[in-house]
Amino acid sequence: MTKPMGPIPAGFTADADGMLLIGGRRADALVAEAGDTPLFVYDLGLVEAKIARFRAAFEGVHLHFAMKANPYLPLLKHVGSKVDGVDLASGGELAIAMAAGVDPAVTSFAGPGKRDADLEAAMRAGVTLNAESEGEVERALAIGTRLGIRPRLAVRVNPDFEIKGSGMRMGGGAKPFGVDAARVPALVKRIVKAGAEWRGFHIFAGSQALDAGALIEAQTATVALAAELAEAAGAEPPLVNLGGGFGIPYFHGEQALDVETIAAALAETLGKRPQVLANTEFAIELGRWLVGECGVYLTRIVDRKESHGKTFLVTDGGMQHQLAASGNFGQVVRRNYPVAIANRFGAGPESDATVVGCLCTPLDRLADDVALPDARPGDLVAVFLAGAYGLSASPQAFLAQQPAREMVVGA
Ligand SMILES: *Cc1c(COP(=O)(O)O)cnc(C)c1O
Repeated sequence: MTKPMGPIPAGFTADADGMLLIGGRRADALVAEAGDTPLFVYDLGLVEAKIARFRAAFEGVHLHFAMKANPYLPLLKHVGSKVDGVDLASGGELAIAMAAGVDPAVTSFAGPGKRDADLEAAMRAGVTLNAESEGEVERALAIGTRLGIRPRLAVRVNPDFEIKGSGMRMGGGAKPFGVDAARVPALVKRIVKAGAEWRGFHIFAGSQALDAGALIEAQTATVALAAELAEAAGAEPPLVNLGGGFGIPYFHGEQALDVETIAAALAETLGKRPQVLANTEFAIELGRWLVGECGVYLTRIVDRKESHGKTFLVTDGGMQHQLAASGNFGQVVRRNYPVAIANRFGAGPESDATVVGCLCTPLDRLADDVALPDARPGDLVAVFLAGAYGLSASPQAFLAQQPAREMVVGA
């Protein structure tokens, strides 16, 4: 039985031959230029359109890129130069960000389990540490004393709420992320008293939300919490990072997020914010909403086979590169990402097929019983929504298949 797939994002068309165009370039030509499949292509034009849409809606609010969504260096170089800040979450990402020429003054480093060497590298670079615990603050202060560097410290808060209906919950209740709100004022006092540069709060309440109302509620609660904590600490925060959580539609029936409505509500909330936040700047940090839709994963059909009345298209890619599309990256129920036959893009569906990868595991499915134009070995399969949590969030070493290539277009 045919199963539905998610919506193909806007911005992808075909040429007269029916070949998928990415950033105006033919998919087969991009594969030839890269050298082989499997290949991730990221259309920077689509990212720029997202940035422009954010800027038009969120006047005066800083836009940060959460680079864990896509740390590919050429993409980061480009996106990093267009946003107001980059948020990273590991020593490795710090090294990539510095190699990409990201400005350390607008870079912040969150994430649990920062080792002393990571703290030291960030402090030497002048990056703000979003402290995840009291212990981390103490280690940063000690390293600062040893190196003669004044650490720049923000406190990541574990709020008592989370974004309703958010795909991945990272706030509320016992969490390894952030410091419980009740203990934050004392920690801010400690930071200020120790002579460190206090940078403010980082309050992240969830991810992959598609409900504007839920995001508005979370942002309103976040601003109120920041004010409360600042009052209790007796210190005005230079910056409040409101988190992000803007989702994109991956699956059948999901609707794109109405960010303009969120922006209008935030402007109203900030317009009447408490005095303690009067001089505070606000940032929103986004990963998948900025880059998720810009990416296409191209893989070639190696074999076409039938089994018990089902057609399988076996490709040279799979879950080792695009784990999320296989349904194994935190999903409870497997559903289909949008896929297409790239060299017959726009042709109507002719039969049902199941697209699998080349791994010897039944987990390796890119699309299950989807209606596609007939396809044969040599054809290219495009898996959309591959711009965030793709290659860097997948077990590429598993089974030692062909490594994936990556490229940017449209810059
Ligand atoms: C992962 C993460 C993000 C990015 O989430 P998206 O859903 O990709 O927007 C932002 N902030 C923090 C703290 C994160 O851990």
